Amino acid sequence: MYKIALITGDGIGPELSESVIDVLDIINDKLGVKVEVTKLQAGDAALKKTGKALPDETVEQIKNSDACLKAPVGESAADVIVVLRRLLDLYANIRPAKSYPNMPALKENIDMVIVRENTEDLYTGMEFEVGETIIALRSISKGASERIAKHAFATAEQRNGKRKVTCVHKSNVMRKTDGLFAKTCEQVAKNYPKITFEHMYVDACAMNLIRQPESFDVIVTTNLFGDILSDEASQVVGGLGMAPAANIGDRFALFEPVHGAAFDIAGKQVANPSSFILSAKMMFEWLGIKNNDKSCQDVAKKIENAVYGIVKDGIKTRDIGGDKSTKEFTQNVISRII
Ligand code: ATP
Repeated sequence: MYKIALITGDGIGPELSESVIDVLDIINDKLGVKVEVTKLQAGDAALKKTGKALPDETVEQIKNSDACLKAPVGESAADVIVVLRRLLDLYANIRPAKSYPNMPALKENIDMVIVRENTEDLYTGMEFEVGETIIALRSISKGASERIAKHAFATAEQRNGKRKVTCVHKSNVMRKTDGLFAKTCEQVAKNYPKITFEHMYVDACAMNLIRQPESFDVIVTTNLFGDILSDEASQVVGGLGMAPAANIGDRFALFEPVHGAAFDIAGKQVANPSSFILSAKMMFEWLGIKNNDKSCQDVAKKIENAVYGIVKDGIKTRDIGGDKSTKEFTQNVISRII
């Protein structure tokens, strides 16, 4: 039995959470993996109700579970996810961008993963006023660069892809910080002679993601660049509605859609639940590897095949050119899983 903590979130978060709960219920009932889901509060609604965007009880419950699924939260996102990443030392943010069939994608054969360092860079929020100027501190350490680089190479080894790691930075301008990141990745690359290694400046990468997205396999980069490039990559393969993500540490992991709370479409039953359902798929993959549990790997494959199959058949939500509601789409996924 796996204990899953589920943050239901704000905006479209509760609708996506219902979809994921329906999918997990079926897995529990019909497939060989047992899960126990605990719904938790965090985000804007939690802040209003309890005075804290991330209530202590939520943190305790997460710590007592095997993995966490987190729906998007609203304005208080930084007080939830940034804090959780730090508290649980979730140093690797993994964002796959894969082209599914029948999508408004730039090309059909895209299959890449962005491995983003999750703990430092400009996102530590160290900002100071000096007179009328604001200074932001950018910290890049050898240790954090080394462990994210190792994670990227391990990912390239595990995947059945092009066996390539592209290190993305801007070391020609930020000579010290990105210089250290690039050099450290290069050193780690020496331990993986079978994986092709290349450097790319972040501006060139932003361009190549549009020009030749099929040429990428694994991209490893720093926090801010990774955040921006992964939103771009998700648009290249058909939009945020299909984009899942994982935040991984050595002992724990949290899975969430790439997108935010999308208040513009909240409560209308038009949101694409694939981003969260595919996040659950990543969770089963991770549980499978961590616990050496093949049945979790099988569940992950079943989820992905179900989503792949229905979009191939043209059963789609509005954002990807279809007309199905969140519930209808979810029911179709479920009928293909079992
Ligand atoms: P954040 O700043 O937290 O990233 P945001 O409000 O800038 O959030 P998102 O919420 O990430 O942006 O989403 C941008 C737009 O993409 C939304 O306004 C919405 O129209 C669309 N969108 C995002 N997620 C989905 C989804 N799951 N299904 C359909 N459309 C979506």
